[in-house]
Amino acid sequence: EPAVRVPDWTDIEGWWPALTAASEKYTRGVVGIATGSATYPGAAVLSVAGALAGPTGLVRYAGGARAEVLHHHPSVIATDRVADAGRVQAWVCGSGLGTGDEARTELRCVLAAPVPVVLDADGLSLLVDGSSAEQLRHRRAPTVVTPHDREFARLAGEQPGADRVGAALRLASWMNAVVLLKGDRTVVATPDGRAYANPTGSPALATGGTGDVLAGLLGSLLAGGLAPERAALAAAYLHGLAGREAARHGPVTAPDVAGALRSVVPGGAARQ
Ligand code: AMP
Ligand code: MG
Repeated sequence: EPAVRVPDWTDIEGWWPALTAASEKYTRGVVGIATGSATYPGAAVLSVAGALAGPTGLVRYAGGARAEVLHHHPSVIATDRVADAGRVQAWVCGSGLGTGDEARTELRCVLAAPVPVVLDADGLSLLVDGSSAEQLRHRRAPTVVTPHDREFARLAGEQPGADRVGAALRLASWMNAVVLLKGDRTVVATPDGRAYANPTGSPALATGGTGDVLAGLLGSLLAGGLAPERAALAAAYLHGLAGREAARHGPVTAPDVAGALRSVVPGGAARQ
């Protein structure tokens, strides 16, 4: 039985990249967001919002929801395709992407990049059939997958069941990826057998789009230089705090979670 560790605020604060007088937008890291589509522009807007709450200096967006992303987030640099996006230090791919040929091409392009990748939602569905799972398993840069229970079941071929830690560890080892298994006590498991339980959260997070915010934040932490295991833990921890903070004001929507994130991160208004 592996020990299940629980991160605390001191861990997260210690890992969060500090701003200094020498900080510069490119050295803070550039995160690429390949989510959303003309059909699901909201997923793009929400994952970009999550990324903008993170430590990176620049967010690039590549996908079919450029106009909506720029309307909500004018500081983003947007292109239609991953191949045209320019350099990033991490990619987030999946939510609202769709599962057609174009989505698959974008996923392949992301997985071919020699940088950390976060895969969520449709990005996980695309892994289930086709050659992308094989491409993922052979990546040398780290991958973090962020399934909820249903996505986990399709990906792993088994329900997470009662032993969520064991199930996440098996998938992590098989996929050669860090697994962030979402739920009311999110589990993080690494391919080499470490496991963690996230202590923060709120049932108010059980609403559409909050997972997209989480994926964007996670991408920013990876691009900001955190190792994948730490990035996954910090993202889950801060997302859980943001859910609690947002719930203090009434019924929660995903944009509320993104807004609350900006106040609960180290250096945020709720933390000074
Ligand atoms: P998604 O299903 O992809 O939108 O992601 C949902 C997010 O909400 C994840 O971060 C989950 O951990 C979180 N979440 C969902 N249900 C609960 C719950 N009952 N308690 C705490 N967090 C939850
Ligand atoms: Mg989701």
